[in-house]
Amino acid sequence: MFKKILVANRGEIAVRIMRTAARMGISTVAVYSDADRDALHGAGADEAVHIGPPSAAESYLNGERIIAAAKATGAEAIHPGYGFLAENPDFVEAVEKAGLVFIGPTVPAIRAMGLKDAAKQLMERAGVPVVPGYHDEAQELVVLATKAREIGYPVLVKARAGGGGKGMRRIDHPDEFAEALAAAKREARASFGDSRVIVEKLIKNPRHIEVQIFGDRYGNVIHLFERDCSAQRRHQKVIEEAPAPGMTAAMRAAMTNAAIRAAQAIGYVGAGTVEFIVDASKGLRPDRFWFMEMNTRLQVEHPVTEMVTGLDLVEWQLRIAAGEALPLEQDAIALSGHAVEARIYAEDPARDFLPATGKLYHLRFPQEAAGTALRIDSGVRQGDEIQPYYDPLIAKIITHGESRDAALEGLGKALAKTEIAGATVNTTFLSRLAQDPDFVSAKLDTDLIARRQAVLTAKSEPSTRASAAAALAASGARWKPRASDPFDSFSGYTHFHPLTQKQTLHYGEKALTYAITGQGGGQFSVHLEAPEGETFVLSVDDPEWRIVAWPGHLTVFEGAEAHTFQLHDPLALTENVGGGNGLLAPMPGLVKVVRASAGDGVRKGQPLLVLEAMKMEHTITAPHDGVIAEIAAEGAQVNDGTMLVRFVASET
Ligand code: ADP
Ligand code: ADP
Ligand code: MG
Repeated sequence: MFKKILVANRGEIAVRIMRTAARMGISTVAVYSDADRDALHGAGADEAVHIGPPSAAESYLNGERIIAAAKATGAEAIHPGYGFLAENPDFVEAVEKAGLVFIGPTVPAIRAMGLKDAAKQLMERAGVPVVPGYHDEAQELVVLATKAREIGYPVLVKARAGGGGKGMRRIDHPDEFAEALAAAKREARASFGDSRVIVEKLIKNPRHIEVQIFGDRYGNVIHLFERDCSAQRRHQKVIEEAPAPGMTAAMRAAMTNAAIRAAQAIGYVGAGTVEFIVDASKGLRPDRFWFMEMNTRLQVEHPVTEMVTGLDLVEWQLRIAAGEALPLEQDAIALSGHAVEARIYAEDPARDFLPATGKLYHLRFPQEAAGTALRIDSGVRQGDEIQPYYDPLIAKIITHGESRDAALEGLGKALAKTEIAGATVNTTFLSRLAQDPDFVSAKLDTDLIARRQAVLTAKSEPSTRASAAAALAASGARWKPRASDPFDSFSGYTHFHPLTQKQTLHYGEKALTYAITGQGGGQFSVHLEAPEGETFVLSVDDPEWRIVAWPGHLTVFEGAEAHTFQLHDPLALTENVGGGNGLLAPMPGLVKVVRASAGDGVRKGQPLLVLEAMKMEHTITAPHDGVIAEIAAEGAQVNDGTMLVRFVASET
């Protein structure tokens, strides 16, 4: 076994890999960018090497630097995690040339599966069912449009080098083809440096079911059962689970056999995932699943497989890379219970899931979840900053119970006890999804989230009582901190004045002013100054309240909902920054497309420009009707808060 390995990644996956390495007595070397100087993954390693500036291209994608770090520290092998260099055959070649071991498959296997077009041609030859479509050379609009017509609408255009759901567009009608193709190609070039696409038949209301496989250097390939990742948003997985609900013996045999055939066709070594799209409109049927792609790496959702098999997939990767045979034979691997995983991202579901940044002023994960086994894979600590440069995944919450219902109930409880303040996160959305009637009854398909989007993403309102409690907290009344954490406590005065004090809070665009009167014994009467404003008598020490303060804000946790109040008027702030009636960039990014010009009259909701941030395209729409005075230029690099659009001040 290796004595020392380098982990060429960051965040939760780097931390998770190091955990197994430490258990196996293997020393670890972390690499970090300028933005990650104080990151958890560096602190968790035995050694840490600085590899460059924040941008991924200059740090975590800088293969030369990473290999040099491995050489300098005497690491024998490199674990790439997922993303970054995990599926880059040139990097693997360089690693091997430097006399190091790549903890993953061989260069030819990565190349064979790296591009969706070549992979599908190969799978067709290996007798694995593939999605009907066009996966050949031609890239001209006329050819692709003709192929799309032959395949039959709706179709899906996909970046052949794609991953993470990027560079993919559903097209329902020939009229939309040209524009959607251009957008997919732009996104593909930005994300993968390769604008080539394939066209596939769009399977309607499909399920995504994938098979975890493992191969060793001695020609053995086995599977570790399947995962269902049908709960997706814009082709990105949101909640994953194992086993797949409703799986039958016949379907499982057909799918795992096809996955093993796929792996054998390329002499696969290490951990891999064969992803299939399934038409489950008539139940899970062995003649209704098709190969989509193979991911030649550890998958984000591998923990659910670990929970139901009791195996450590990273340990297996390390053993196989060190030259050992597969630790177990197929018959020795059994499924037990049901596991689910939810991905907590810094993003705002109420604003079309715009990635969020910010400092995690408050971060608490639960210790247990309703009698189910609970696992939290996190890459951050309280006080860490969510970086705009990388994938905004904060943590994964995984629960394992005897049944799917038990696992989901545990997940719901765990999400309700998760407290994050400082950056907007998707926990409320995840919690609603985990309790959605269709999801709970396993009426799964990849459109479920889109169908239920309004309910799942509705902006929640705090209860009037919780708002009053927030006002009391904000007033600086003696507040008992829940922990020794400075952000939890109020530095305000301890002798609350007996007279009534006014306190204003802002919730979204609403300003709420309260009259707060001390009644002695830690009790306060809190009255909302509004027609029919309620009065609550509240105690500052009430353990019911989960309230945290962070600069300029207060966050109240009610169940799985987090309500953030502002202590200052956010609109006043926007106007100051914008110097008038402006639309600010919600995050750093690149202005890709501009669809309006100065002088244009626009309607509320009309797309004004496309901002590319985090490698995804986000359409920025007009917040209200108005006339544009100024608009950002195409190709402009903007920062969080830069003005994108200024409207002509309205007369009213
Ligand atoms: P897996 O195939 O392992 O489930 P995904 O396909 O979800 O992983 O993601 C593949 C890559 O895309 C990962 O490297 C991940 O960092 C990135 N990714 C996934 N989801 C997002 C997201 N919401 N925003 C940005 N990048 C993402
Ligand atoms: P990526 O490399 O980005 O993960 P995939 O080919 O794995 O791309 O597809 C990602 C997701 O897009 C799938 O999980 C599925 O939800 C959806 N998808 C892909 N191909 C099809 C298809 N032919 N029909 C319907 N949905 C599809
Ligand atoms: Mg995929």
